[in-house]
Amino acid sequence: MNMTDEEFERIYGRKPYKKQKKVKIYWGRIIAAAVILILVIYLIVKAITGVYSLIKGDKNDTSDSKAKTASAAAAGTKAKKNKEDVSEYEPTITVAEGSITVCIDAGHGDYDGGTTDSTGTRFEKTDNLKIALEVQKKLEAMGVNVVMTRDDDTFVDLGDRCEIANDAKADLFVSLHRNSYDGDISGVEIWVNNAEPEYDTMLGQNIMDKLASVGISDNRGVQYGYVGNPGVNYYINADTVMPSCLVELGFLTVEEDNRLFDEHLEDYGRAIAEGIVKTAYDIGLVDSDGNRAISEQLLSAEKHINRAEDDSQEPTPAGSFETDTDGEVYNTQENEYY
Ligand SMILES: [Zn+2]
Repeated sequence: MNMTDEEFERIYGRKPYKKQKKVKIYWGRIIAAAVILILVIYLIVKAITGVYSLIKGDKNDTSDSKAKTASAAAAGTKAKKNKEDVSEYEPTITVAEGSITVCIDAGHGDYDGGTTDSTGTRFEKTDNLKIALEVQKKLEAMGVNVVMTRDDDTFVDLGDRCEIANDAKADLFVSLHRNSYDGDISGVEIWVNNAEPEYDTMLGQNIMDKLASVGISDNRGVQYGYVGNPGVNYYINADTVMPSCLVELGFLTVEEDNRLFDEHLEDYGRAIAEGIVKTAYDIGLVDSDGNRAISEQLLSAEKHINRAEDDSQEPTPAGSFETDTDGEVYNTQENEYY
């Protein structure tokens, strides 16, 4: 019998039961899908743990790179700061442009390395040049005409250094050095001619005061003559005709002094420059408006006389002295020319 669903419903009052279609199960596809799912889950877990271990394992590296980034940023800031300093540095004390001439002498140079630190790798000549260039920059910003005895790693004879200053008719002369001593001594010393000339002493004292205000490990004061022998003078304090001084900017043999030197290089440069310009005002080389007040080159008369007397007396300095190939006498103990 063949009847439609409608006929069946009319006769039996219900819809006919229909044989359910047998659902075909594709086991192969299910297994394949399961395998793929497991594989995907495995890969996800693996990826997560991989990323986690990467983060965990890189923690030090991350902080390193953070530090690197920070230092790079700091370096960037510093570079920017220095750049700003060049253009935006505003000195607190100035003179009329070119009204005075100052000679800055970076001690030693080339094969004459000066003294060294305890490792023998840091040379005085390099530090001297660094601070000299810094002083030059600040002085020029203050309106001073600056003459350098050297502005690179070259050797300049002591006599030539004095001649450069004298010929340039420099009004003031400042020689920059770093000290050394095999013992418990640190700090800054400033050496002046043993005739104790007033202007030279003022120059040394003003520079010392400014350096001390920046921060030094010890103020060893303005001293006269030569280390270990007040009866003679450092060459440059004897043969220059203008007021002069020799700054020993901390001991290369003392770690703290080296740290201070490195940290305060720019501030020390500014301090020395300020000390020099303040001296120009104090001794009346310039008037209160910063204009040149004397017509001639400033001379250190007292030092001049002292040098003449010394020449006639031919003083013999104490210590272990030798003569180098250029005929310069130097102290082998202090490794310091005089
Ligand atoms: Zn020196």
